[in-house]
Amino acid sequence: MSATLVTGIGELVTNVTPDGMPGGRLAAIAGAALVIEGEHVAWAGPADRAPAADTVIDAEGRAVLPGFVDSHAHLVFAGERSAEFTARMAGQGYAAGGIRTTVAATRAATDDELRAGIGRLAREMLRQGTTTFECKSGYGLTVKDEARSLALASEVTPEVTYLGAHVVPAEYADDPAGYVDLVCGQMLDACAPHARWVDVFCERGAFDGDSARAILAAGASKGLLARVHANQLGPGPGVTVAVEAGAASADHCTFLTDADVAALASSGTVATLLPGAEFGTRQPYPDARRLLAAGATVALATDCNPGSSFTSSMPFCIAIAVRDMHMTPAEAVWAATAGGARALRRDDVGYLAPGARADLVILDAPSHAYLAYRPGIPLVHAVMTSGLVAWRGR
Ligand SMILES: [Zn+2]
Repeated sequence: MSATLVTGIGELVTNVTPDGMPGGRLAAIAGAALVIEGEHVAWAGPADRAPAADTVIDAEGRAVLPGFVDSHAHLVFAGERSAEFTARMAGQGYAAGGIRTTVAATRAATDDELRAGIGRLAREMLRQGTTTFECKSGYGLTVKDEARSLALASEVTPEVTYLGAHVVPAEYADDPAGYVDLVCGQMLDACAPHARWVDVFCERGAFDGDSARAILAAGASKGLLARVHANQLGPGPGVTVAVEAGAASADHCTFLTDADVAALASSGTVATLLPGAEFGTRQPYPDARRLLAAGATVALATDCNPGSSFTSSMPFCIAIAVRDMHMTPAEAVWAATAGGARALRRDDVGYLAPGARADLVILDAPSHAYLAYRPGIPLVHAVMTSGLVAWRGR
Protein backbone atom coordinates (compact mmCIF):
# COMPACT_ATOMS: atom_id res chain seq x y z
CA MET A 1 0.00 0.00 0.00
CA SER A 2 1.47 3.37 -0.94
CA ALA A 3 1.93 5.95 1.81
CA THR A 4 1.43 9.73 1.61
CA LEU A 5 3.20 12.05 4.03
CA VAL A 6 1.51 15.38 4.72
CA THR A 7 4.17 17.49 6.39
CA GLY A 8 4.78 21.17 7.17
CA ILE A 9 1.53 21.24 9.17
CA GLY A 10 1.47 24.41 11.30
CA GLU A 11 -1.14 22.94 13.64
CA LEU A 12 -2.53 19.40 13.44
CA VAL A 13 -5.81 19.05 15.32
CA THR A 14 -5.87 15.41 16.40
CA ASN A 15 -8.56 15.35 19.11
CA VAL A 16 -6.73 12.45 20.76
CA THR A 17 -5.38 12.03 24.27
CA PRO A 18 -1.62 11.57 24.81
CA ASP A 19 -2.11 7.78 24.61
CA GLY A 20 -3.72 8.14 21.18
CA MET A 21 -7.38 7.58 22.08
CA PRO A 22 -10.18 9.91 20.89
CA GLY A 23 -10.59 12.39 23.74
CA GLY A 24 -13.23 14.73 25.07
CA ARG A 25 -11.51 17.97 24.13
CA LEU A 26 -9.57 19.51 21.28
CA ALA A 27 -5.95 18.42 21.14
CA ALA A 28 -3.36 19.62 18.62
CA ILE A 29 0.31 19.22 17.69
CA ALA A 30 2.37 22.18 16.41
CA GLY A 31 4.90 21.56 13.61
CA ALA A 32 3.28 18.25 12.74
CA ALA A 33 3.08 15.63 10.01
CA LEU A 34 0.60 12.91 9.13
CA VAL A 35 1.02 9.69 7.16
CA ILE A 36 -1.89 8.24 5.19
CA GLU A 37 -1.97 4.64 3.98
CA GLY A 38 -4.94 3.76 1.82
CA GLU A 39 -8.08 5.18 3.38
CA HIS A 40 -6.69 5.61 6.88
CA VAL A 41 -4.26 7.59 8.98
CA ALA A 42 -1.18 5.44 9.68
CA TRP A 43 0.87 7.88 11.75
CA ALA A 44 0.62 11.40 13.25
CA GLY A 45 3.20 13.33 15.25
CA PRO A 46 5.97 15.95 15.18
CA ALA A 47 7.24 16.55 11.63
CA ASP A 48 10.87 15.95 12.61
CA ARG A 49 10.02 12.37 13.61
CA ALA A 50 7.89 11.49 10.58
CA PRO A 51 8.62 8.23 8.76
CA ALA A 52 9.43 8.21 5.04
CA ALA A 53 6.62 7.86 2.48
CA ASP A 54 6.12 7.41 -1.27
CA THR A 55 4.45 10.79 -1.79
CA VAL A 56 5.00 14.03 0.13
CA ILE A 57 2.52 16.90 0.43
CA ASP A 58 3.82 20.14 1.99
CA ALA A 59 1.08 21.93 3.93
CA GLU A 60 3.31 25.05 4.11
CA GLY A 61 2.40 25.91 7.68
CA ARG A 62 -1.34 25.49 7.29
CA ALA A 63 -3.59 24.03 9.97
CA VAL A 64 -4.96 20.53 9.33
CA LEU A 65 -8.15 19.42 11.07
CA PRO A 66 -10.33 16.32 11.03
CA GLY A 67 -13.08 16.81 8.42
CA PHE A 68 -16.22 18.34 9.90
CA VAL A 69 -18.98 15.93 10.89
CA ASP A 70 -22.38 17.52 10.28
CA SER A 71 -24.75 15.30 12.23
CA HIS A 72 -28.00 17.10 11.35
CA ALA A 73 -29.09 18.09 7.84
CA HIS A 74 -32.28 18.04 5.78
CA LEU A 75 -31.04 17.92 2.18
CA VAL A 76 -33.89 16.14 0.39
CA PHE A 77 -36.33 18.84 -0.66
CA ALA A 78 -37.50 20.97 -3.57
CA GLY A 79 -38.31 24.67 -3.69
CA GLU A 80 -37.09 27.46 -1.43
CA ARG A 81 -38.54 29.80 1.19
CA SER A 82 -36.68 33.09 0.88
CA ALA A 83 -39.96 35.05 1.07
CA GLU A 84 -40.72 33.43 4.43
CA PHE A 85 -37.20 34.30 5.63
CA THR A 86 -37.61 37.88 4.49
CA ALA A 87 -40.95 38.19 6.28
CA ARG A 88 -39.41 36.72 9.42
CA MET A 89 -36.57 39.21 9.35
CA ALA A 90 -39.26 41.91 9.12
CA GLY A 91 -40.72 40.67 12.40
CA GLN A 92 -42.99 37.71 11.64
CA GLY A 93 -42.65 34.70 13.99
CA TYR A 94 -41.45 31.16 13.14
CA ALA A 95 -43.74 28.14 13.54
CA ALA A 96 -43.27 24.47 12.67
CA GLY A 97 -46.02 24.68 9.99
CA GLY A 98 -43.79 26.33 7.36
CA ILE A 99 -42.46 22.84 6.66
CA ARG A 100 -45.70 22.08 4.77
CA THR A 101 -44.71 24.53 1.99
CA THR A 102 -41.61 22.47 1.27
CA VAL A 103 -43.60 19.23 1.51
CA ALA A 104 -45.84 20.32 -1.38
CA ALA A 105 -42.84 21.23 -3.57
CA THR A 106 -40.98 18.02 -2.69
CA ARG A 107 -43.92 15.76 -3.53
CA ALA A 108 -44.22 17.48 -6.92
CA ALA A 109 -40.50 17.08 -7.78
CA THR A 110 -38.99 14.28 -9.84
CA ASP A 111 -36.30 11.99 -8.44
CA ASP A 112 -33.73 13.70 -10.65
CA GLU A 113 -34.71 17.15 -9.42
CA LEU A 114 -34.35 16.02 -5.82
CA ARG A 115 -31.07 14.24 -6.63
CA ALA A 116 -29.67 17.42 -8.21
CA GLY A 117 -30.54 19.45 -5.12
CA ILE A 118 -28.95 16.93 -2.77
CA GLY A 119 -25.81 16.83 -4.91
CA ARG A 120 -25.53 20.62 -4.97
CA LEU A 121 -25.73 20.84 -1.16
CA ALA A 122 -23.36 17.89 -0.66
CA ARG A 123 -20.77 19.66 -2.85
CA GLU A 124 -21.26 22.88 -0.87
CA MET A 125 -20.61 20.95 2.32
CA LEU A 126 -17.45 19.35 0.95
CA ARG A 127 -16.03 22.69 -0.19
CA GLN A 128 -16.48 23.95 3.37
CA GLY A 129 -14.73 21.00 4.94
CA THR A 130 -17.55 18.63 5.79
CA THR A 131 -16.50 15.03 5.13
CA THR A 132 -19.31 13.18 6.96
CA PHE A 133 -22.92 14.30 7.04
CA GLU A 134 -26.28 12.99 8.11
CA CYS A 135 -29.32 13.42 5.87
CA LYS A 136 -32.98 13.20 6.87
CA SER A 137 -36.23 12.62 5.04
CA GLY A 138 -39.23 14.57 6.29
CA TYR A 139 -40.50 16.58 3.34
CA GLY A 140 -42.35 13.69 1.68
CA LEU A 141 -44.70 12.60 4.48
CA THR A 142 -46.34 9.91 2.35
CA VAL A 143 -45.18 6.29 2.28
CA LYS A 144 -43.89 6.68 -1.26
CA ASP A 145 -42.27 10.10 -0.83
CA GLU A 146 -40.56 9.28 2.46
CA ALA A 147 -39.17 6.02 1.06
CA ARG A 148 -37.83 7.70 -2.07
CA SER A 149 -36.34 10.57 -0.04
CA LEU A 150 -34.37 8.02 2.01
CA ALA A 151 -33.33 6.03 -1.04
CA LEU A 152 -31.96 9.25 -2.59
CA ALA A 153 -30.20 10.24 0.65
CA SER A 154 -28.54 6.83 0.84
CA GLU A 155 -26.88 7.55 -2.52
CA VAL A 156 -24.74 10.23 -0.83
CA THR A 157 -24.30 9.16 2.82
CA PRO A 158 -24.64 6.11 5.08
CA GLU A 159 -26.05 8.36 7.83
CA VAL A 160 -29.66 8.32 6.66
CA THR A 161 -32.48 9.28 9.02
CA TYR A 162 -36.18 8.48 8.72
CA LEU A 163 -38.08 11.63 9.74
CA GLY A 164 -41.63 10.78 8.71
CA ALA A 165 -42.50 12.48 12.01
CA HIS A 166 -41.36 15.93 10.90
CA VAL A 167 -44.82 17.52 10.96
CA VAL A 168 -48.37 16.19 10.55
CA PRO A 169 -49.20 16.72 6.86
CA ALA A 170 -52.23 18.82 5.91
CA GLU A 171 -54.29 15.80 4.82
CA TYR A 172 -54.05 14.39 8.38
CA ALA A 173 -54.82 17.71 10.12
CA ASP A 174 -58.05 16.24 11.56
CA ASP A 175 -56.47 12.86 12.40
CA PRO A 176 -52.97 13.35 13.85
CA ALA A 177 -53.21 9.99 15.67
CA GLY A 178 -53.87 8.32 12.32
CA TYR A 179 -50.70 9.89 10.97
CA VAL A 180 -48.66 8.59 13.93
CA ASP A 181 -50.05 5.12 13.17
CA LEU A 182 -48.91 5.47 9.56
CA VAL A 183 -45.42 6.65 10.62
CA CYS A 184 -45.14 3.65 12.99
CA GLY A 185 -46.60 1.17 10.52
CA GLN A 186 -46.72 1.12 6.75
CA MET A 187 -44.40 4.13 6.29
CA LEU A 188 -41.80 2.67 8.65
CA ASP A 189 -41.94 -0.68 6.83
CA ALA A 190 -41.16 1.07 3.54
CA CYS A 191 -38.47 3.33 5.01
CA ALA A 192 -36.53 1.18 7.46
CA PRO A 193 -34.53 -0.68 4.76
CA HIS A 194 -33.04 2.65 3.59
CA ALA A 195 -32.26 4.19 7.00
CA ARG A 196 -29.91 3.87 9.97
CA TRP A 197 -31.74 6.34 12.23
CA VAL A 198 -35.26 7.36 13.25
CA ASP A 199 -35.97 10.94 14.30
CA VAL A 200 -39.03 12.84 15.53
CA PHE A 201 -39.78 16.57 15.79
CA CYS A 202 -41.00 16.58 19.41
CA GLU A 203 -42.44 20.07 19.73
CA ARG A 204 -45.72 21.93 20.23
CA GLY A 205 -47.30 22.02 16.76
CA ALA A 206 -45.49 18.83 15.71
CA PHE A 207 -45.46 15.64 17.88
CA ASP A 208 -46.06 15.35 21.63
CA GLY A 209 -44.02 13.23 24.05
CA ASP A 210 -46.23 10.12 23.87
CA SER A 211 -46.30 10.15 20.06
CA ALA A 212 -42.53 10.65 19.98
CA ARG A 213 -41.99 7.68 22.33
CA ALA A 214 -44.20 5.48 20.16
CA ILE A 215 -42.38 6.51 16.97
CA LEU A 216 -38.91 5.88 18.41
CA ALA A 217 -40.02 2.51 19.81
CA ALA A 218 -41.47 1.47 16.47
CA GLY A 219 -38.23 2.51 14.76
CA ALA A 220 -36.18 0.55 17.30
CA SER A 221 -38.23 -2.56 16.56
CA LYS A 222 -36.96 -2.29 12.97
CA GLY A 223 -33.36 -1.75 14.09
CA LEU A 224 -33.30 2.04 13.71
CA LEU A 225 -31.30 4.06 16.25
CA ALA A 226 -32.94 7.12 17.81
CA ARG A 227 -32.28 10.85 17.53
CA VAL A 228 -34.73 13.63 18.43
CA HIS A 229 -35.50 17.24 17.47
CA ALA A 230 -35.90 18.46 21.04
CA ASN A 231 -36.76 21.71 22.84
CA GLN A 232 -36.22 24.02 19.86
CA LEU A 233 -39.19 26.38 20.07
CA GLY A 234 -40.03 26.09 23.76
CA PRO A 235 -39.69 23.88 26.83
CA GLY A 236 -41.09 20.38 26.37
CA PRO A 237 -40.54 16.65 26.73
CA GLY A 238 -38.09 16.22 23.82
CA VAL A 239 -34.89 15.84 25.84
CA THR A 240 -36.58 13.50 28.34
CA VAL A 241 -37.88 11.33 25.52
CA ALA A 242 -34.45 11.30 23.84
CA VAL A 243 -32.58 10.28 26.99
CA GLU A 244 -35.18 7.63 27.92
CA ALA A 245 -34.88 6.12 24.44
CA GLY A 246 -31.07 6.09 24.64
CA ALA A 247 -30.95 8.41 21.62
CA ALA A 248 -27.54 9.21 20.18
CA SER A 249 -28.45 12.88 20.16
CA ALA A 250 -31.01 15.44 21.26
CA ASP A 251 -30.86 18.22 18.71
CA HIS A 252 -31.50 21.96 19.19
CA CYS A 253 -31.66 22.01 23.06
CA THR A 254 -32.56 25.70 23.05
CA PHE A 255 -35.11 25.70 25.89
CA LEU A 256 -33.86 23.40 28.66
CA THR A 257 -34.81 22.96 32.31
CA ASP A 258 -32.18 22.12 34.92
CA ALA A 259 -33.52 18.54 34.83
CA ASP A 260 -32.99 18.40 31.03
CA VAL A 261 -29.38 19.57 31.42
CA ALA A 262 -28.75 17.04 34.19
CA ALA A 263 -30.32 14.24 32.12
CA LEU A 264 -28.09 15.04 29.14
CA ALA A 265 -24.98 15.30 31.31
CA SER A 266 -25.56 11.90 32.91
CA SER A 267 -26.49 10.07 29.71
CA GLY A 268 -24.85 8.99 26.48
CA THR A 269 -27.10 11.38 24.57
CA VAL A 270 -25.16 14.19 22.87
CA ALA A 271 -26.61 17.73 22.98
CA THR A 272 -26.37 18.85 19.36
CA LEU A 273 -26.65 22.61 18.98
CA LEU A 274 -27.82 24.08 15.67
CA PRO A 275 -27.06 27.80 15.81
CA GLY A 276 -27.94 28.30 12.13
CA ALA A 277 -31.58 27.77 13.15
CA GLU A 278 -31.49 30.49 15.79
CA PHE A 279 -29.64 32.77 13.36
CA GLY A 280 -32.26 32.14 10.65
CA THR A 281 -35.25 32.56 12.97
CA ARG A 282 -33.81 35.24 15.26
CA GLN A 283 -34.46 33.08 18.32
CA PRO A 284 -32.23 33.08 21.40
CA TYR A 285 -29.21 30.78 21.04
CA PRO A 286 -28.96 27.62 23.16
CA ASP A 287 -26.91 28.00 26.33
CA ALA A 288 -23.78 26.05 25.39
CA ARG A 289 -21.88 27.13 28.50
CA ARG A 290 -24.55 25.71 30.79
CA LEU A 291 -24.36 22.34 29.01
CA LEU A 292 -20.56 22.29 28.99
CA ALA A 293 -20.40 23.29 32.67
CA ALA A 294 -22.71 20.39 33.54
CA GLY A 295 -20.49 17.96 31.64
CA ALA A 296 -22.79 17.25 28.68
CA THR A 297 -21.21 16.29 25.36
CA VAL A 298 -21.92 19.10 22.90
CA ALA A 299 -21.93 18.80 19.10
CA LEU A 300 -22.47 21.50 16.48
CA ALA A 301 -24.33 20.88 13.21
CA THR A 302 -25.88 23.01 10.47
CA ASP A 303 -29.54 21.84 10.41
CA CYS A 304 -29.28 22.69 6.71
CA ASN A 305 -32.89 23.05 5.50
CA PRO A 306 -34.79 25.51 3.30
CA GLY A 307 -36.93 26.95 6.11
CA SER A 308 -35.14 27.80 9.33
CA SER A 309 -31.42 27.33 8.54
CA PHE A 310 -30.43 27.39 4.89
CA THR A 311 -26.70 27.10 5.51
CA SER A 312 -24.48 24.09 4.84
CA SER A 313 -21.45 25.76 6.42
CA MET A 314 -19.84 24.26 9.51
CA PRO A 315 -17.32 27.17 9.64
CA PHE A 316 -20.29 29.57 9.86
CA CYS A 317 -21.77 27.56 12.74
CA ILE A 318 -18.40 27.52 14.52
CA ALA A 319 -18.12 31.30 14.17
CA ILE A 320 -21.59 31.83 15.68
CA ALA A 321 -20.91 29.34 18.46
CA VAL A 322 -17.80 31.27 19.44
CA ARG A 323 -19.11 34.80 18.99
CA ASP A 324 -22.66 34.42 20.29
CA MET A 325 -22.72 31.20 22.32
CA HIS A 326 -19.45 31.89 24.13
CA MET A 327 -17.80 28.60 23.22
CA THR A 328 -14.03 28.83 22.87
CA PRO A 329 -12.69 28.17 19.35
CA ALA A 330 -11.30 24.88 20.68
CA GLU A 331 -14.68 23.83 22.10
CA ALA A 332 -16.51 24.79 18.92
CA VAL A 333 -14.10 23.00 16.58
CA TRP A 334 -14.17 19.88 18.78
CA ALA A 335 -17.99 20.00 18.76
CA ALA A 336 -17.99 20.28 14.94
CA THR A 337 -15.66 17.30 14.48
CA ALA A 338 -15.42 14.81 17.38
CA GLY A 339 -18.76 15.98 18.84
CA GLY A 340 -20.53 15.32 15.54
CA ALA A 341 -18.90 11.89 15.36
CA ARG A 342 -20.27 11.04 18.82
CA ALA A 343 -23.70 12.29 17.80
CA LEU A 344 -23.56 9.77 14.95
CA ARG A 345 -21.93 7.06 17.11
CA ARG A 346 -19.00 6.93 14.71
CA ASP A 347 -15.57 5.87 15.99
CA ASP A 348 -13.72 6.27 12.67
CA VAL A 349 -14.11 10.04 12.10
CA GLY A 350 -13.76 13.29 14.05
CA TYR A 351 -10.14 12.67 15.05
CA LEU A 352 -6.77 12.14 13.36
CA ALA A 353 -4.65 9.30 14.71
CA PRO A 354 -3.63 5.85 13.49
CA GLY A 355 -6.77 3.94 12.47
CA ALA A 356 -8.94 7.00 11.83
CA ARG A 357 -10.37 7.50 8.36
CA ALA A 358 -8.12 9.92 6.48
CA ASP A 359 -10.75 12.66 6.23
CA LEU A 360 -9.05 15.99 6.68
CA VAL A 361 -9.40 19.69 6.07
CA ILE A 362 -6.41 21.85 5.22
CA LEU A 363 -7.06 25.51 6.11
CA ASP A 364 -5.50 28.59 4.57
CA ALA A 365 -4.71 29.62 8.14
CA PRO A 366 -2.21 28.64 10.81
CA SER A 367 -4.73 27.56 13.46
CA HIS A 368 -8.28 26.34 14.03
CA ALA A 369 -9.10 29.64 15.78
CA TYR A 370 -9.20 31.36 12.40
CA LEU A 371 -12.53 29.64 11.67
CA ALA A 372 -14.11 32.08 14.14
CA TYR A 373 -11.49 34.85 13.95
CA ARG A 374 -12.05 35.27 10.18
CA PRO A 375 -15.81 34.66 9.83
CA GLY A 376 -17.26 34.48 6.34
CA ILE A 377 -13.89 33.88 4.68
CA PRO A 378 -13.53 30.71 2.57
CA LEU A 379 -10.57 29.35 4.53
CA VAL A 380 -10.69 25.77 3.27
CA HIS A 381 -7.61 25.15 1.10
CA ALA A 382 -8.22 21.46 0.39
CA VAL A 383 -10.27 18.53 1.64
CA MET A 384 -9.27 14.87 1.69
CA THR A 385 -11.77 12.06 2.13
CA SER A 386 -10.64 8.48 2.75
CA GLY A 387 -7.09 9.49 1.88
CA LEU A 388 -7.82 11.14 -1.47
CA VAL A 389 -8.00 14.83 -2.36
CA ALA A 390 -11.74 15.41 -2.83
CA TRP A 391 -11.66 19.17 -3.24
CA ARG A 392 -8.94 21.75 -3.71
CA GLY A 393 -9.30 25.57 -3.74
CA ARG A 394 -7.10 28.10 -5.43
ZN1 LIG B 1 -33.71 19.64 11.83
